[in-house]
Amino acid sequence: MIVVFLGPPGSGKGTQAKRIGQQRGWPHLSTGDMLRAAITAGSELGLKAKAVMDRGELVPDQVVLGLILDRCGRPDCNNGFILDGFPRTIVQAEGLDRALVGKKLEIDRAILFDVPDDEVEERLSGRRVCSQCGAPYHVKFSPPKAGRICDSCGGQVVQRDDDQLGVIRKRLKVYHDQTAPLIEYYRKKKKLKTLDASQLPEKVADELLSILR
Ligand code: AMP
Repeated sequence: MIVVFLGPPGSGKGTQAKRIGQQRGWPHLSTGDMLRAAITAGSELGLKAKAVMDRGELVPDQVVLGLILDRCGRPDCNNGFILDGFPRTIVQAEGLDRALVGKKLEIDRAILFDVPDDEVEERLSGRRVCSQCGAPYHVKFSPPKAGRICDSCGGQVVQRDDDQLGVIRKRLKVYHDQTAPLIEYYRKKKKLKTLDASQLPEKVADELLSILR
């Protein structure tokens, strides 16, 4: 099954994609994670992407499309995969659809993680992440036990550069302007399902399971 997770930043797509991906054996393909890996590796792509990401804007369509098409062509994706944070524009969605048609494949479901903007702001401005293992934290809801030290690996817990309030607001605007039109795109294709992503993660996971059943 090929599933698209759609929704604003901070709606919990990544958390749920990891969880359900492990259960079903579907690789979790996150363009945000791929771009951050390129930044850590210090590649030319990473250097270019970092400036764009720090402003809360979108990396060019052809760049992310190239990353995704390369990744989903690998054998571990043969039984399906989850797209998290991709597509983010109509151009990306059309490019993906064209490439899938060429392989006699198609998107099975697009799942909208619905959550209001003020909740996104609260979630993202308090979000922290381990710089070594990527474990997620939140200053209010799930802080590390010992200051800024990761509970799992002892690494440094930090704030993502693009989780500053000004950048969060820019990312939300970009979401409404450029990504939200995909809701209609998938609705017209009768692929869209919506879930209430402001519930506790366990509840969201239950709702997701029943949608994918
Ligand atoms: P995320 O981790 O999904 O919130 O993505 C972090 C940042 O990476 C975004 O704000 C964009 O700058 C960039 N990015 C991730 N995915 C895409 C995409 N599909 N298209 C363009 N830019 C992206």
